[in-house]
Amino acid sequence: MLGKSMFDRGLTVGSSGNISARLNDGWLMTPTNSCLGRLDPEALSKVDANGRLLSGGKQTKESFLHLAVYGERPSAGAIVHLHSTHSVAVSCLAEIDPQQPIPPITAYYVMKIGNLMLIPYYAPGDMALANAVKEVAGKHHAILLANHGPIVAGKDLESAVYATEELEETAKLYLLLRGNRLNILTQDQVAELNRKWPQ
Ligand SMILES: [Zn+2]
Repeated sequence: MLGKSMFDRGLTVGSSGNISARLNDGWLMTPTNSCLGRLDPEALSKVDANGRLLSGGKQTKESFLHLAVYGERPSAGAIVHLHSTHSVAVSCLAEIDPQQPIPPITAYYVMKIGNLMLIPYYAPGDMALANAVKEVAGKHHAILLANHGPIVAGKDLESAVYATEELEETAKLYLLLRGNRLNILTQDQVAELNRKWPQ
């Protein structure tokens, strides 16, 4: 249902984007080449702790990205990875700070995403991409893959989806604002939000 909701609102198109959720004995993932607008619960891929397919359709080609994040984040219950337009647009900008690709422009962005990290471009399927994700996933629940898209972990599927949506909307705002002088949240304001609503 959440997959269809994202698809219907244009957050993902065609067969791009993939979702996964942690189970007691492995993971449930969207199958390769599946459209998030028409997911069949029966066809979802169930993979074991080593990423081997146990049942359902063959798992997404990007499953290794999900496993790289789960490996570093024991508290992650679900992960969303999209090629959503505005987030991808930000990931293509030259001269952005990889440590802060989007400044803290709203409180909800700080509360749901916080410290987004941009990692360099690697071709899809390149294991160097999984390694780059692994390196930062322990400290960052939201990672932006340059010229590709965001990957966001949450304690459950709903929170991963909502955080990804907040990222996409903030990326849109940031692009609208580019070229203007901005009032961004101060370090103290960000610190206060992090104290009240820790990630
Ligand atoms: Zn992708």
